[in-house]
Amino acid sequence: MTTIRNIYCVGRNFGLHAAELGNEVPDKPMIFMKPTHALVPMNGQPIELPAGRGEVHYETEFVIRIGRDYRPGMQVDELVDAMALGIDFTLRDVQSELKKKGHPWLLAKGFLGSAPITEFRPFPGEDEVLQTEFVLRKNGAEAQRGNLNDLIFNLQVIIDYIAANFGLGAGDIIFTGTPAGVAAVKHGDRLELLWGSEKFGEFTVKMEG
Ligand code: ZN
Repeated sequence: MTTIRNIYCVGRNFGLHAAELGNEVPDKPMIFMKPTHALVPMNGQPIELPAGRGEVHYETEFVIRIGRDYRPGMQVDELVDAMALGIDFTLRDVQSELKKKGHPWLLAKGFLGSAPITEFRPFPGEDEVLQTEFVLRKNGAEAQRGNLNDLIFNLQVIIDYIAANFGLGAGDIIFTGTPAGVAAVKHGDRLELLWGSEKFGEFTVKMEG
């Protein structure tokens, strides 16, 4: 497996999600990062999340992996070699406090286990991924549905922006933003991530002191 290097994430990249949290839509991509220690594979084991630190929200996201070092002018289909689905777990109450103070989001977004991810699959090309929607089911009921046509900043814009400001190379991955429908999880919740009708991954939430 390719070693994952940097984990970039895009905030507020779906208009309806920005609105549900009362946030303005940004005029440039809003980028933050998670430590690689946040990653956890969906391999059948329950995934442990922090208990006693307020609400933990799921944010289901389409994830791309960069397969080669970026050079200006490179297109999405040349750069992206694999795709996955992931959850950008967020300590929402902690994040609200951090925002009030104007502090970085790391405590709310970068905790251990905050980035469960499915296995990577070959990237079929941008045209192809625009034809399929991703879905989160919670305890059997649909909780989120995302269509990449609704991204405020599309994959090319995100890639160019990240590369220009922070650098982008082989092994970097990007969580591209969550659609509307985020909410808190609780101990025992079963989360399933689907690409179209194909199940990419699933796990049970473990949350106890
Ligand atoms: Zn997110």
